[in-house]
Amino acid sequence: MADIIQLLPDHVANQIAAGEVVQRPASVVKELLENAIDADATKIKLIIKDAGKTLVQVIDDGKGMSTTDARLSFERHATSKIRTADDLFQLHTKGFRGEALASIAAIAHVELRTKQAQDEVGTSIIIEGSDVVAQEVVVTPKGTSISVKNLFFNIPARRNFLKSNTVELRHVIDEFHRVALAHPTIAFVLYNNGSELFNLHESNYRQRIVNIFGNKTNEKLVPVIEDTEILKISGFVGKPEFAKKTRGEQYFFVNNRFIKSAYLNHSIVSAFDGLLKPGMHPSYFLNLTVNPQSIDINIHPTKTEIKFDDEHALYALLRSAVKHSLGQFNIAPVLDFERDPNLDVPYNYNQNAGNRPVIEIDRNFNPFNDQRNSQTHTTTYKKEAATGWENLYEGLESKGTKTQQDFSEVHFESESNSKILFDDKYLDTVQTTYQLHNKYIVSTIKSGMLLIDQQRAHQRVLYENLLEQLTVEGASSQQLLFPLTLHFSTPEIEIIKQLKEDLKHTGFIFSNLTKESVEITGVPVSIPESEVSIILEQLISDVENEVPDSNFSITDLLAKSLAKSLAIKTGQPLKKNEQEHLVNSLFACKEPNVSPTNRSTFITMSVDELDKKFI
Ligand code: ADP
Ligand code: MG
Repeated sequence: MADIIQLLPDHVANQIAAGEVVQRPASVVKELLENAIDADATKIKLIIKDAGKTLVQVIDDGKGMSTTDARLSFERHATSKIRTADDLFQLHTKGFRGEALASIAAIAHVELRTKQAQDEVGTSIIIEGSDVVAQEVVVTPKGTSISVKNLFFNIPARRNFLKSNTVELRHVIDEFHRVALAHPTIAFVLYNNGSELFNLHESNYRQRIVNIFGNKTNEKLVPVIEDTEILKISGFVGKPEFAKKTRGEQYFFVNNRFIKSAYLNHSIVSAFDGLLKPGMHPSYFLNLTVNPQSIDINIHPTKTEIKFDDEHALYALLRSAVKHSLGQFNIAPVLDFERDPNLDVPYNYNQNAGNRPVIEIDRNFNPFNDQRNSQTHTTTYKKEAATGWENLYEGLESKGTKTQQDFSEVHFESESNSKILFDDKYLDTVQTTYQLHNKYIVSTIKSGMLLIDQQRAHQRVLYENLLEQLTVEGASSQQLLFPLTLHFSTPEIEIIKQLKEDLKHTGFIFSNLTKESVEITGVPVSIPESEVSIILEQLISDVENEVPDSNFSITDLLAKSLAKSLAIKTGQPLKKNEQEHLVNSLFACKEPNVSPTNRSTFITMSVDELDKKFI
């Protein structure tokens, strides 16, 4: 049989390599910014259009390339950064694989203009899908400009897989942050669709963080410094009281390279032990300097993970350095690291000075009237509403009350179990509800037992209600006495801008949006003012983590996110009337049997099944 193995042509090999190097516009941003830094640029301009899908351009004032190098730079494995295998263990540059430009040129329209300081004129090269279409001598300033247009123009499947501009822009900005944070002495500018998102001057590290994340950040930072033989640490951690519900601002740089490390992250979190409320994440911006020979950057193609020789030592050093800083700045109660941590008083202990007993009086109780109907329940409950989570129900009241008063009128629109479960005998059969472990509501139904997950059930109720408000009615808004100003990072503001109109339908009124703050004059009736910031934070993080889905709708996401934030949680004790109200509201939903994220809201167990358990 004839030989069948052939070497792949270069352009095919490049396209395959591109699959690894370039996943999305942000990957191009990363490679081009890193090349500019390796070329010793002092000013770098990043220009993108349509979140980078149409254009990613990086202009630097670095050392530029000769005509021959300019041409060679697009070849695979063409690099000026390493020469021998040994160099791999002595890396002082960002790049070393010599793959980025070749890969990018295989899947986009690329235009390069470059000139070295000593040359009179420079070189321009245009490449489309690995083919050089033009090469000219041009007049151009010292440095390099690379434009990458129409990413994935020749791989429609990859192009279609790109997410919405909001999400892709978020990735681009993330990359930009990482590079800009690692190099505070280089000036960076970022434009998206002609508007300037960041203009970062040459500065020190603290100023760079503040310039990126907003002036408010300054007061949140606690410096961390440590200098040992195997590791130098410098940077900042965020004060515990500014910890966030989402893992936003967590940055490790090892030898000026952004890395992800769950292990090192853990060491920081453990240094905050006892200082953070559960579920909160500390922010940190830490630079670690180690001997380049003690790390291997090679284990991940996109190079955000690295391998350390002595991870355990780094873990311990990092933990104690952070602990020390928190202690020095009077943030942590523990200064003595040798002390048994089990003896330490938890941070929040002082505030927990025991709960004052509260006597609850039912003011509507009339000993001579034992026929209290459900209407009375609602009135009682309305009075309590101002005190806590119960007011979240307020928006549902009309629906809920109707359900309670005249249940036979409710139309179940879906073909769900609810029909079978709650036939006309329903009212007779719900005699009572019972809350189990502040988590489940138990009730009897005709066929046996019903067990409802209170958190998921309430999410479903709120979700359907919010969807209705968002698409049909628009919710009423509660005017704030004083406008509420909240600070966010620029990319977060970008997301709020895009959601502004939809949020208006839920009752949020934004009076002013600047680059790093929002002013809110109205909030949905159901949301307490103190919760607004956390709810918006959650929403932003949900938008960022949006999963690719052709049915994706921002309204739906908004309703899901708000329902998640607003729903009563596991652990919340519910009074009898609240339990009943929740059960009734749930079964007035169109799809009562699943939560907005498609998880079961209740299970049933028939008497037969129960009988079997007792055999
Ligand atoms: P790598 O960065 O791994 O070497 P690239 O494909 O990113 O590989 O770049 C190939 C080569 O092109 C680099 O080694 C460098 O010599 C040259 N180069 C790329 N971008 C620039 C730039 N902005 N300024 C100067 N030289 C550059
Ligand atoms: Mg490179």
